[in-house]
Amino acid sequence: MGIDRYNDPFSKSPILGVACLFQSQQLTAKAMKTAKPSDLMQFLHSIQSRLVSLLMGFLFLCTAVLGALLMGTQRLLAWLDGQHPQLALPLQRATRWFKQHPKTISLSLASLLLAGGGGAFAIANLGPDITNEPVVTLTQPLQIAAIQEQVQSLDLIKMSLMRTDSTRSSDTPESLLRRLGLVDTDAAAFLRKNPLAKQALRYANRSVTAEADGQQRLLQLSVRWLNKETDTFFQRLVIKRSAQGLEASLETSPMTTGIRMTGGTVASSLYDAADEARLPDSVVTQLTQIFSNQIDFHRTLRKGASFSVVYEVLEADGEPLRTGRVLTAEFNNGNKTYEAVWYQEPGQKGNYYSMDGKSLSRAYLASPVAFSRKTSGFAMRLHPIFQTRRAHLGVDYAAPTGTPAQTVGDGVVEFAGVQGGFGNVVIVRHGNNHSTVYAHLSKIQVRRGQSVQKGQTIGAVGSTGWSTGPHLHFEFRVNGTHVDPQKIIQQAQSTPLSPVALNRFKTTAEQARYQLLAATQMREGAVQ
Ligand SMILES: [Zn+2]
Repeated sequence: MGIDRYNDPFSKSPILGVACLFQSQQLTAKAMKTAKPSDLMQFLHSIQSRLVSLLMGFLFLCTAVLGALLMGTQRLLAWLDGQHPQLALPLQRATRWFKQHPKTISLSLASLLLAGGGGAFAIANLGPDITNEPVVTLTQPLQIAAIQEQVQSLDLIKMSLMRTDSTRSSDTPESLLRRLGLVDTDAAAFLRKNPLAKQALRYANRSVTAEADGQQRLLQLSVRWLNKETDTFFQRLVIKRSAQGLEASLETSPMTTGIRMTGGTVASSLYDAADEARLPDSVVTQLTQIFSNQIDFHRTLRKGASFSVVYEVLEADGEPLRTGRVLTAEFNNGNKTYEAVWYQEPGQKGNYYSMDGKSLSRAYLASPVAFSRKTSGFAMRLHPIFQTRRAHLGVDYAAPTGTPAQTVGDGVVEFAGVQGGFGNVVIVRHGNNHSTVYAHLSKIQVRRGQSVQKGQTIGAVGSTGWSTGPHLHFEFRVNGTHVDPQKIIQQAQSTPLSPVALNRFKTTAEQARYQLLAATQMREGAVQ
């Protein structure tokens, strides 16, 4: 290289060699300057700048065209997908190829742009050095709006803040307004003396929405509630600020139905999992009832059991006012998955079915004690009486005294009274030589010979007879001998839907499957 020509003594050192190279370049430039006239340089500069702008323009154009092309293809695909799915297939294959080789495409695109950009940069670099150009200072006065004007314009923007809360039994007008972030003595006085407002705010757990201005004064307040739990219309009290002051009016409006989906995994108890999933108790109750013919939640619920549930929520102005029916649910317990879909034949009573269209109702309930928040965490103290008994024929359900005991199936009361170690006991006779025993009751609510229906309360859990801790001793007898109730339950068959109804049901089940999938994804997403 040129270094040798100048006989540089440091050229052998790799570090100092760079300095030497720099020096040699400067020398070459100096030599050129003396050799060529400045007119030629100017001519070259003009060509260079044109080349630069041309190349840059070309690059911009390329990028724009590429972008437009990609967007167009995407739209075309979306349109084709909707209109002609068969046509979209080859195009989809192309996009799939694009997706499969993103590195190749982006690499070649990047190298193309780099090469172009590098070229442009190389030419631009040959242009005149900016440090040699004269510096021109431009002075331009800026119009800054007066502070006063700015403040006034800010005032013109209506600052309204919406907040929603619920009424509490301990509320005063002041405490409610404070919780809604309002500072408004006028409004508090109005809420205290207006009869409509007084009536509406008298009850706890009513949804209240307030709209405030920038000064935290009340612009509008609405309270929503149901007169009856089964109502489909809700009541809305609206308090509005007008030029004349605050005014109250009562309105009635239909509720809208929304759908919620959620799920949970049982770490300690079903209710803990439900709380974590923010599942209302009424939905948990429905869930345990839906599967009450399949799962004995007291005895067979396992740690790690998971559930997904899709249910209706009745909303007033977008705020949930009450929960509706569970539409579909899934329960994984142990190695078994139970699914339920709500289906109602036109003009008939609705019921829950499995995904293949089999009714979930069975002849017997899985448990004689309804699963609830109260009974779920109730553990039984083991008493010496039970330990000394040689064989314990039956299943014990620990539950607080007074918890309703329910007959697990339709039948006739065979015995209702006191019987030795059983204390207060009820025996119900069902078909097929089946009978059930409910012992240690604190209260008996049926008479001998009385017909009872599945789920009917026959008495209350207690501790009478040979028992010191409140619990229900339950036996399922076949021909007078105790058998495991779980075995009987699993044997029970159910009536399937008619072929015509089954066809209609399939559509419902398909939708339910997708909803459950979404709910499961949400559950798994919440875990991560
Ligand atoms: Zn027992």
